[in-house]
Amino acid sequence: MPTLTSREIRLARRPAGVPEPADFELATTRVAAPADGEIQVRNLWMSVDPYMRGRMRKLKSYIEPFALGEVLAGECLGEVIDSRHPDFAPGDVVHSLHGWREAWVGPPEGVTTVDPDLAPLPAYLGVMGMTGFTAYVGLLDIAALRSGETVFVSAAAGAVGSVVCQIARLHDCPVIGSAGSPAKTAWLRDDLGVDATIDYKATPRVGAELARIAPDGIDVYYDNVGGDHLEAALQNLNDHGRIAACGMISVYNQRRPPAGPRNLIQVIARRLTLRGFIIHDHLDRHADFQRDMSRWLAAGRVRQRETVHHGIAEAPAAFIGLFAGENVGKMLVQLGD
Ligand code: NDP
Repeated sequence: MPTLTSREIRLARRPAGVPEPADFELATTRVAAPADGEIQVRNLWMSVDPYMRGRMRKLKSYIEPFALGEVLAGECLGEVIDSRHPDFAPGDVVHSLHGWREAWVGPPEGVTTVDPDLAPLPAYLGVMGMTGFTAYVGLLDIAALRSGETVFVSAAAGAVGSVVCQIARLHDCPVIGSAGSPAKTAWLRDDLGVDATIDYKATPRVGAELARIAPDGIDVYYDNVGGDHLEAALQNLNDHGRIAACGMISVYNQRRPPAGPRNLIQVIARRLTLRGFIIHDHLDRHADFQRDMSRWLAAGRVRQRETVHHGIAEAPAAFIGLFAGENVGKMLVQLGD
């Protein structure tokens, strides 16, 4: 089989504040034919994720930072073009972490095949992928949700948040979702059955609005945002309430860590539990997640929505758009011409 041409996105410089197009570079490479034990893959879809902003800093965290000039990496789906590995054949659709490029070759470590007949391909990067798994573990295990409890979700119209809302509704829990536009809050209420919403960009004080909507308080807060949303939740959580600290996108682009939350003392007064998690530590729950989520999807009880950019050159714009709330549901790039 011939070599392939592949365009890829590299980190040109470390973003200072909100990422800009000049932080990224589009380069063209050749992808060799596979050697023994390798597969050659042309990518079809790639996931665009806020956590990658953390890897663009030169700080060691739970995952290594990206090197300057290095191709970025992320979840993706691709079609096997050529295989010299017994477990993979041309035409197979595979999930890998070799995103942000059009094609790749290498040993299939951590690569799994997906069945395009079971679910549409974007679902494997969304509700059936890391996104859905994060929602499931965060809500059911980390926050230990119980039926009937009142749940507050931030970035509720985003990829993880919209799945959290739907799983909470499946457990007969009233859900309050916060999102950044009237179109997003309408989608949450009208299509996903969210009980009440806050358009936080049109609300001067999220905490006061949450108190008005939930006069009896909230029991669980699923935090995707941090900052003012975390303070609002602390102000309104009932005794023994729980916070699943999933993400804090409101601080990812800040040059210095912000102070606060100013009312953290509520953790003591109200005997709260605030528990952070990284989804990769919870793979023991993956089979349960797959069983439940495929059942919910088949029954139409969980739905996925995507915002799709087209072509590898658009990947930086898609990533930057996450911080301006340009996505409803899962942010994806469809590759190929
Ligand atoms: P989303 O699809 O939710 O996209 C990000 C959304 O965040 C935007 O659409 C925007 O919506 C909102 N947002 C952006 N900036 C701000 C801000 N300053 N204040 C409030 N909202 C803001 O992304 P994901 O679903 O992929 O990720 C959600 C969160 O979960 C992220 O924080 C991410 O880092 C985290 N995460 C954590 C994992 C873990 O293992 N702990 C795994 C995966 C994700 P809006 O229009 O409403 O502002």
